[in-house]
Amino acid sequence: MTSGAVEAARNILTRLHEVMASRSHAQAKLNTVVEVIGECLDSEVCSIYLLREGMLELFATRGLAQEAVHVTRMAVGEGLVGTIADQIGTLNLAEAAAHPDFSYRPETGEEKFHSFAGVPIVRRQRAVGVLCVQHVEPRRYEEVEIEALQTVAMVLSELIVNADLIDEENAGAFGAGQTGPEQLRGLTLVKGLASGVAVFHQPRVTIEHVVAEDTEAERQRVILAFDKMREQIDRMAGQAEFGVGGEHEEVLETYRMFAYDEGWTRRINEAIDSGLTAEAAIERVQQRTRMRMRQIDDPLLADRMHDLEDLANRLLRIVSGQIGTAASMGLRNDAILIARNLGPAELLEYDRRRLKGVILEEGSLTSHVVIVARAMGIPVLGRVRGLRGVVREGDQLLLDADHDIATVRPSPGIIEAFETRFAKSRERQAAYAALRDVLPTSRDGQRVYLMINAGLRDDIANLSLTGADGVGLFRTEFQFLVSATLPQRERQTRLYRDVMDTAGDKPVIFRTVDIGGDKTLPYLRHDDGEGEENPAMGWRALRVALERDGLLKAQARALLEAGAGRNLYVMFPMVAEPWEFDAAKAVFDGQLAYLKQQKKVLPEAIRYGVMLEVPAMAEQLDLLAPKISFLSIGTNDLTQFLFAADRSNPKLAERYDWLSPAILRFIQRVVRNLEDFRVDISVCGEMGGRRLEALALLGLGIRRMSITPASVGPIKELVGKVDLREIGEAMAGWLAAPPPSLRATMSAWAAERDIHVD
Ligand code: PEP
Ligand code: MG
Repeated sequence: MTSGAVEAARNILTRLHEVMASRSHAQAKLNTVVEVIGECLDSEVCSIYLLREGMLELFATRGLAQEAVHVTRMAVGEGLVGTIADQIGTLNLAEAAAHPDFSYRPETGEEKFHSFAGVPIVRRQRAVGVLCVQHVEPRRYEEVEIEALQTVAMVLSELIVNADLIDEENAGAFGAGQTGPEQLRGLTLVKGLASGVAVFHQPRVTIEHVVAEDTEAERQRVILAFDKMREQIDRMAGQAEFGVGGEHEEVLETYRMFAYDEGWTRRINEAIDSGLTAEAAIERVQQRTRMRMRQIDDPLLADRMHDLEDLANRLLRIVSGQIGTAASMGLRNDAILIARNLGPAELLEYDRRRLKGVILEEGSLTSHVVIVARAMGIPVLGRVRGLRGVVREGDQLLLDADHDIATVRPSPGIIEAFETRFAKSRERQAAYAALRDVLPTSRDGQRVYLMINAGLRDDIANLSLTGADGVGLFRTEFQFLVSATLPQRERQTRLYRDVMDTAGDKPVIFRTVDIGGDKTLPYLRHDDGEGEENPAMGWRALRVALERDGLLKAQARALLEAGAGRNLYVMFPMVAEPWEFDAAKAVFDGQLAYLKQQKKVLPEAIRYGVMLEVPAMAEQLDLLAPKISFLSIGTNDLTQFLFAADRSNPKLAERYDWLSPAILRFIQRVVRNLEDFRVDISVCGEMGGRRLEALALLGLGIRRMSITPASVGPIKELVGKVDLREIGEAMAGWLAAPPPSLRATMSAWAAERDIHVD
């Protein structure tokens, strides 16, 4: 803001302050406001349009015909006034009639006036009205005057809301260029359908007071808030949310750049000098930046703008003391959570009954929050660019995370179509639920075992809901991911015991911690503290556990104690060499010997197994097999290693197919190589939860699968329709001489037999 603008705005604000404090009614106040502004800006005309019943209605004017007040009405998007509201943008024209959107209203008598300037009156980032000035002489208004108008518009928004002059609910339908439904495209991270209202994880601050009583006090508040914010940013580097490597570091750098940007602080201080409160000044500067940025079409700048929005919001939250997340305020309706990114613990703070879906600007298939959301059965759409610019708090949202889209502010037609699909999907779910007590048996009478993947205590309830045969993969690292500090041994024991109690007679296979790599924990870092170039192939899983053997010892003891008097199943992740299995088992043996010596009750039996995720292990199965009871193929990691394709890179998400002969022949060989050993073989990656892929696995001789709970019903139904001997023979033929697309060939094979595989 220039000093002239500060002066002009200050002048107007001082006079408006008196108007606002007066006891006259709202309409009288508005009438005075247009007089004050007209005089101060030396304009013949000053008018205020407010949104009422979806239309912009002339509420007060100086200079236009008074008969037009409450008569002239414009639709959002119509005429110059409607364009300002629609775009949430400013217009400054020397010759109003020359603008393509000009719409002449004879009742106002405005033909005499040539120049025109208008600014939106904004409330919660929505236009609720327009303030404009007109002048007989054809001249453009000066920047100083426009800035003064923008400041006044903020004051007006407070006056308008306090006087109940607009219907805030109605204002919800309008925004920057979005007057109707809008489709958001992203990448499905957890499948499913959901509908609800948009809730921002970091809620936008509502500004209550705009005009300052004491300018110096406001300046102090801003200085303190900046200090606090800078402190927070400097601390962030150590948090899980901003783990090492990748784009988070870039974001953090940008945060730092803005947080220490003198231009930003200066502009805020100038806005305070003009008479605004700290909150209003921050928002005022942000509004101006938003308007400027809207005119620049550059995706890189748009990203940086989001960073600045984050920071401005953070600053506002600090200064106003409104610091809780949406979780701490509680969800009142069915909600779809909107965030740039989330930590798993943050997600878990939400009420599971009300939280229906999540939409993120970032996120990847294996990010922690996504792993947790999948476990909670909450659909997630990620990688939605510009999300928080399009969606407003309270907007209605339909999330279709089966097709990579979400619709914001849907029309009744869209809602109806969605509801029909939703109802169908619920019907299907109900039909699957009805299969709960049916054993998964193939058409030719062979028993197949379907287990679930789990990681949280609450997940175990899915065993009885789905009728699954047990937990084929319990990801013990979830407990580590969702806690701020390393879970103590007693806490681990308690969790494992609870899980086994709930599972009853059904087996639970506990996988020892698979942390490190992309699942970094702030409290457990590599000694040198450096990020890794290839975290998926780096210091993770058993590699961490064997090096930090205190960690594995504590976990071994917790598992052995929890398993007292029961059958205990222990599985080691990412085993690449047989000696790694030996070393891990030795840790368990050591703890077992200790417990024996202490005369503690021991498990009835302990069965050890490994995950086959590293291809190298497949070449040494004959060496490993005699030592283990079971082996579970982790197709998520196995695929990334076979194809050298990072599983969390969205660019590669669709590139390789699980139905490639590369994977299927690999699994075929593993199954054959284990035929002579007494080793139970299963698959526990995401692959087994998809119907066509599951059909392929059945064809390869896999009879045990551990899958996401939501897939148990669909896969059980599939099993019942398949003749395992027949698919076995077909698969042997396909893999001996693969067709160009095994996916297409198998789909056709299934369709001929009326087996649904989509
Ligand atoms: C896998 O890699 O297939 C697997 C099941 O383990 P996770 O997804 O936890 O790495
Ligand atoms: Mg894995």
